Amino acid sequence: MDSARSWFQKFQPRDKTKGFGKKKEEDNNGGGAEVSSVAVDEASLSNDTKQKVAAAKQYIENHYKEQMKNLQERKDRRTFLEKKLADADVSEEDQNNLLKFLEKKETEYMRLQRHKMGVDDFELLTMIGKGAFGEVRVCREKTTGQVYAMKKLKKSEMLRRGQVEHVRAERNLLAEVDSNCIVKLYCSFQDDEYLYLIMEYLPGGDMMTLLMRKDTLTEDEARFYVAETILSIESIHKHNYIHRDIKPDNLLLDRYGHLKLSDFGLCKPLDCSTIAEGDFSVGQNVNGSTQNDERVISKRTQREQLQHWQQNRRTLAYSTVGTPDYIAPEVLLKKGYGMECDWWSLGAIMYEMLVGYPPFYSDDPMTTCRKIVNWRSHLKFPEEARLSREAKDLICKLLCNVNHRLGSKGADEIKVLYGSPILQWC
Ligand code: ADP
Ligand code: MG
Repeated sequence: MDSARSWFQKFQPRDKTKGFGKKKEEDNNGGGAEVSSVAVDEASLSNDTKQKVAAAKQYIENHYKEQMKNLQERKDRRTFLEKKLADADVSEEDQNNLLKFLEKKETEYMRLQRHKMGVDDFELLTMIGKGAFGEVRVCREKTTGQVYAMKKLKKSEMLRRGQVEHVRAERNLLAEVDSNCIVKLYCSFQDDEYLYLIMEYLPGGDMMTLLMRKDTLTEDEARFYVAETILSIESIHKHNYIHRDIKPDNLLLDRYGHLKLSDFGLCKPLDCSTIAEGDFSVGQNVNGSTQNDERVISKRTQREQLQHWQQNRRTLAYSTVGTPDYIAPEVLLKKGYGMECDWWSLGAIMYEMLVGYPPFYSDDPMTTCRKIVNWRSHLKFPEEARLSREAKDLICKLLCNVNHRLGSKGADEIKVLYGSPILQWC
């Protein structure tokens, strides 16, 4: 209830003197003016305010629904025990004692529910990830000894970059989607400086680390991970969420080696709205590289390119802008995009699994963006990688125009390929 109250306080008028002044003016104008001023105020409510009001309504409704449900469940548990005791051969004194014991447990349970989790409830262990907004650590809950992953996000940094909505989306999605393919969120809380997400800990590491260790995967290995990524993408699309930032560092492995998708909402796309399709303009890029440098890069052998990519990989992953290598062209061009963009990312990841580096890799992120939007001229498979015809075919069906992209009509479009005689790849 405390949180509901503090939530409500945000709706108190901030400037009371302003409110009084307005009333005075209305009094001078007579009653009619007051009515019209209210009407104007309602009409001029911004979408943001309307959304906040709708969210408040939903929050209160859910809160009371939940409370009623809890009360009913508590009553049911008592009735159940009373009935059991009446049927059993138990003395009246023992019956009373057992009922008292149940009430004590119920009260403890409610106290636990009211307890607001905070960072002090956890013992912080090893750091496992460091990103643009904070860090991820393994932690242990002090009371239960359970191990979790704690993602800590700096609020000021999120505000500065206008990422608050993205973080909210991440929290909501993690809390809403209950799927084995998605990293589970147990709770979230905040203090003055940070927002904390307490998630299940996946000890298998991420796909980026696996790829750095192995260089490339065999087609059999890649087939397994691609299949599991399809299931995870499907599970978020079913809830009408688009990830937009699916990349190997956001694919985590559990202790059995199964893959789960994580990191929702904190996508860091580069602003490429100034680049257009067919834009091959020669000129200086952000880090001073030119199209001539690009020619040098394209002459690198697969091995050289792979080494180059690996040297840059971690720096790119932990940089504040992130790597654009897996982002779909329509997202970069800010033309409007849908769920198909996640299937593009899958194509780019599959390419990297088999070739060793992503399909549009370049030393400079802006050049990568240029290559992505002009993917027709840049999508090439190095001979040395020896990809099967079927693997290339599937990649090409994912790294293509939205209208032709596999998955646009749902994950089943890709799933049916598993076992298909034409595309035996899957
Ligand atoms: P960012 O927004 O900084 O990319 P992520 O949520 O992707 O944050 O976390 C960064 C890294 O931390 C991941 O690439 C992964 O290696 C590790 N990590 C994140 N969440 C977990 C988790 N639940 N279990 C294990 N490792 C995790
Ligand atoms: Mg990430």
